[in-house]
Amino acid sequence: MLSVLSHPLAEHIVTHLRDKTTKPATFRTLAYQLTVMLAIDATRDLETEPKTVETPLEATQGRILSHEPIVVVAILRSGVSMVQPFLDIFPDVSVGYVGLERDHATAIARSYYTKLPPLAGRRVFVVDPMLATGGSAVQAIDVVKKSGGAKPRLVCVIAAPEGVAEVAKHHPDTSIHVAVLDRALNDRKYILPGLGDFGDRLYGT
Ligand code: URA
Repeated sequence: MLSVLSHPLAEHIVTHLRDKTTKPATFRTLAYQLTVMLAIDATRDLETEPKTVETPLEATQGRILSHEPIVVVAILRSGVSMVQPFLDIFPDVSVGYVGLERDHATAIARSYYTKLPPLAGRRVFVVDPMLATGGSAVQAIDVVKKSGGAKPRLVCVIAAPEGVAEVAKHHPDTSIHVAVLDRALNDRKYILPGLGDFGDRLYGT
């Protein structure tokens, strides 16, 4: 249920994302590239159907994606950075948002906004770059399931073992796709070694 990207390019990108001297513009580009890789990994079992095409030399049978709409549900605010890669590589994607804010003192997530397209019968990917305590992910998946989304997948850049365990406890049917599994959370619920606050690194706040 946990899939960790195993690729030299992913390791290269994660190392530069972690580096505190990486500037926001570069951070955004690297996050985009890594999310493309994650999106490909998380969709490796999409349905396909046969299609015959003519190459300049002869007819050949290939496969194309079946018409299975994809929904990406971004957890605000950092999850928004993971939407565009899905939109850029898949032909039929709609987007939803769940606004969950982490109280920096208690580390408990509070919901302040939900906007979802129809979810029934669609492949749903919940995206949030940092899976720390798992509180936001569990709440977002709750919202998705209540709105008709079956077996949503979770796509993250970095996960802490605590977050993976929390999602597995509440949503054992959710598979989690990450670029890297880190060591632990610190006492302020930040991921170690992590990369700091993803939203702050993205937007230079
Ligand atoms: N959110 C972040 O942006 N970073 C962490 O380390 C944990 C949660």
